[in-house]
Amino acid sequence: RTVYVNGEYLPENEAKVSIFDRGFLMADGVYEVTSVLGGKLIDFDGHLKRLERSLNELDMPKPAAFDDLLEIHRKLVAENGITEGMVYLQVTRGAPDDRDFVFPDAETTEPTVVLFTQNKPGLANSPAAKTGIKVISIDDIRWGRRDIKTVQLLYPSMGKMMAKAQGCDDAWMVEDGAVTEGTSNNAYIVKDGVIITRNLSTDILHGITRAAVLRFAREAQMKVEERPFTIEEAKAADEAFVTSASTFVFPVVEVDGAAVGTGSPGPVATRLREIYLEESLKAGV
Ligand code: PMP
Repeated sequence: RTVYVNGEYLPENEAKVSIFDRGFLMADGVYEVTSVLGGKLIDFDGHLKRLERSLNELDMPKPAAFDDLLEIHRKLVAENGITEGMVYLQVTRGAPDDRDFVFPDAETTEPTVVLFTQNKPGLANSPAAKTGIKVISIDDIRWGRRDIKTVQLLYPSMGKMMAKAQGCDDAWMVEDGAVTEGTSNNAYIVKDGVIITRNLSTDILHGITRAAVLRFAREAQMKVEERPFTIEEAKAADEAFVTSASTFVFPVVEVDGAAVGTGSPGPVATRLREIYLEESLKAGV
């Protein structure tokens, strides 16, 4: 496939980044994942705005190519023939001459910008959307600025491995007795017709899919409560689900071995997935 690195479109095996890149040495980088459906980018504006916010929060200079990012996304999607899949975008603070904790001078060290596509035929018809997923709970031991979408993904990656080791699909992270979010998604429960999901703060990533799904839910007259909830509440809920750009809405049918509701995907999650796919396809760019 063709990838993008610092202004160039190259075959993936010719693309190179310096070993001194701060993304590689220090996880000093941010990223976005935008899904592609019907060859169109889903929620692109939201992802670009969050990227800008992540860069600002880390005092990272905006890369020169920032204003061209839509065009770069589109070109890669076209060139690689992506109908359903994802575009991954990463910006790091760049590669100074040597390893140093001090940020390099932004005048002399340019950010590194990398984009690549992932082809995922059948993304919208994923089997997990029909069967639902099983989650375990684990302690949330990540740093305190989870609202910034950094490439520090080691703990979430370990969380997925812990889930897999127990025959489950994902982990919900718990801090001070309440669920923060999934390893790579926002977490929700439904009780007595009310959709409950943690409020926005520095404790969680401000999911772009979360924003869209909550908007659609409110437009459909569903009740939404933004507050922390516990694993006990999740086990006693009527339904549970997760949202992310790469999965849209996945029902959660089991939490720490306990069936949620009937143990099958519930009507709210199923309906929200349908609305999300339909509306975002229409609004895709
Ligand atoms: N929380 C975390 C920790 C994530 O990694 C992700 C996906 N990147 C999300 C939530 C969902 O965010 P989005 O809907 O923007 O993909």
